Amino acid sequence: MKILCVLYDNPKKGMPKKYPLSKLPVIKKYPNGQTLPTPKGRDFKPGTLLGSVSGELGLRKFLEKNGHELVVTSDKDGKGCRADRELRDADIVISQPFWPYYLTREKMESAPNLKFAITAGIGSDHVDLQAAMDHNIDVYEVTYCNSRSVAEHIVMMIISLVRDYHNQHAIVNRGGWNIADAVHRSYDVEGMHVGTVAAGRIGLDALRKMKPFDVHLHYFDKHRLPKSVEKELNLRFHSSVESLVKVCDVVTINCPLHPETENLFDKKMISKMKKGAYIVNTARGKICNKQAIAAALKSGQLSGYAGDVWFPQPAPNDHIWRKMPHHGMTPHTSGTSLSAQTRYADGVREILECIFSRKQVRKEYTIVRNGELAGTGKHSYTKGNATGGSKEAAKYKRR
Ligand code: NAD
Repeated sequence: MKILCVLYDNPKKGMPKKYPLSKLPVIKKYPNGQTLPTPKGRDFKPGTLLGSVSGELGLRKFLEKNGHELVVTSDKDGKGCRADRELRDADIVISQPFWPYYLTREKMESAPNLKFAITAGIGSDHVDLQAAMDHNIDVYEVTYCNSRSVAEHIVMMIISLVRDYHNQHAIVNRGGWNIADAVHRSYDVEGMHVGTVAAGRIGLDALRKMKPFDVHLHYFDKHRLPKSVEKELNLRFHSSVESLVKVCDVVTINCPLHPETENLFDKKMISKMKKGAYIVNTARGKICNKQAIAAALKSGQLSGYAGDVWFPQPAPNDHIWRKMPHHGMTPHTSGTSLSAQTRYADGVREILECIFSRKQVRKEYTIVRNGELAGTGKHSYTKGNATGGSKEAAKYKRR
């Protein structure tokens, strides 16, 4: 088989010769009892850069030994890019949410052999899921591999936004020491109302991690959590996003991007939020309307916005979120810490081993199978396509 793997660029100065830590902590299983990926083998050192082009997700030896062809590239956008050329006779495409290869209907239709799309991470919205269903292309992702990594990033961003860390750090970097400038937008989170839109693997973990800060916790999800969890976290369920945003000082967004959630936080929804609230969105950029977010930060309707997800990705150099006031944005990094890379590389290998030996891929890794949403896809997504507008990614110029 021919496997096309689209990964992010190597570090500008080349692959690291050494890493800060020589070993990763051992994690036995995820909180709901799900096991970590269990591939039959591993040809990489845990804790190294596996997600960039030269890391190749540690797959080359395994694939070539089994007679497959592996093509790895980061050239994924714009007419004539290498990924589009290689896709034409590929059987499997592997891509990442951090540097997404937008697998639109048009691209799928250019690839008659294509049978599988695998996400090295979580969130398969960069694949036109409707077209995948129509063309019988199975879609898999490595559910849970980086959910807890993202929850850590969410806590970091909530605390740093509310305390106004970015401003204070910038003052130090400029050689300054004006304390009043440093604290005139700085609060404690203690006592605040913090709510999540979606309490799946990430949303629930973020709630659990925020609990020790003595905040009031809220959530909205299509699937209600067990009563025991609501009781344990003293968690208030809301029956709509509107009801949640009306009372929360901090809203974190943790649902997948699909037709139901695209543009969910538009001008109207933001106007229903508590004045001066904060948003942390590590789910997907397209869930928030980019102009409405920037305008709300300017007017004071929002006090801060942070996250690591943009649309499209890479974000064009002039994307409005790069320059809006009171933002704490990072590039799409929360789910690709060195710790997470090990888990998603193992997970991709497990999925490939199943495909090659015609064994069923785990239900929790399944998004689309046999032309239908299935497994996690059935639980967390709706039919349709969310890749519209992705051609804009070609506007990004590497710096
Ligand atoms: P999950 O499948 O465990 O949870 C998703 C939850 O969203 C489910 O509980 C589902 O019921 C809920 N949901 C779906 N549609 C909804 C809607 N319209 N309204 C309310 N709730 C809705 O997935 P997860 O591991 O928690 O990940 C969630 C999303 O986070 C991913 O799909 C991905 O987009 C994003 N993510 C981002 C990164 C990153 O690096 N920034 C990494 C992993 C995942």
